[in-house]
Amino acid sequence: MLKEPMSWLLFILFLLGLSIGSFINAFEYRLHKRMDFIKARSHCPKCKHVLKAQDLMPLLSFVLIGGKCRYCGTKVSWQYPIIEFLSGMLFFASGCYVSSRMHIQGPFDIVVMLLSSCFVGLLLTLFLFFALYDVKHKIVPQKVIIPAIIFGVFYVLFVALGMHFKPHLDVFLVFEDVSLVWNFVAALIGGSFIALLIIITRGKGMGGGDLKLLVFMGLILGLKKLVIAFYIAIITGSILGISWGALKGKIRGLKLPFALFLSLGSIIAFLWGSDIYWWFIGIICYY
Ligand SMILES: [Zn+2]
Repeated sequence: MLKEPMSWLLFILFLLGLSIGSFINAFEYRLHKRMDFIKARSHCPKCKHVLKAQDLMPLLSFVLIGGKCRYCGTKVSWQYPIIEFLSGMLFFASGCYVSSRMHIQGPFDIVVMLLSSCFVGLLLTLFLFFALYDVKHKIVPQKVIIPAIIFGVFYVLFVALGMHFKPHLDVFLVFEDVSLVWNFVAALIGGSFIALLIIITRGKGMGGGDLKLLVFMGLILGLKKLVIAFYIAIITGSILGISWGALKGKIRGLKLPFALFLSLGSIIAFLWGSDIYWWFIGIICYY
């Protein structure tokens, strides 16, 4: 019934995602340079010219000024439009994810749908941020992952208790099988597993940042989706690592941004984990 309006809602979410992507770019830069997040104004890293509103429109500014700084002509990194676009797509996907799990009948449902989609979108763009930061700086920033874990604990408590006391509310259906026991178990297993890997490899493979990221993933994804996310991370990481190694002629000493693959796995597992799970069960039962 709401086919047309739904595409508009998804489009609005996409636009919102673009601006969140723009924020992620600025946040990454400021966190790395230890700048003030609120007071600092966006400027060109080369000529330090403060950017105006027309320079700060996500995607559009990049296209309009031809990927160069308006004031000094320095090329703007492709990171900016890519992250903005990916973030827009994540918000769009969140909208699809939420609306496919809700019965939307009236204006109130639309508000709930938009708010839930924004929530899921922010959750997924957090993984996008971890991926970006790890690719650029080879680290999962403490200042973000620790608050993320604390948030994760509250997320599990809130959704699990909500499901228990208000099981008929659509909102809680959106978050699928969040369980008070299994999400904490997943965090524990995820964290211990990486701790074991760190001990075995004597810290050469993964680090404390990956461990904390796994704890966060466990809280958000639960055990089933955590396993799927980890599996995707291993596969994509190996494929890229081997092809990269083949290209450079060496595999030893290669340091892969593992948080990138963990984040990719988390995003896929969050959105399509249940489908993948049932598809997998289907295959097993078939044989
Ligand atoms: Zn400039």
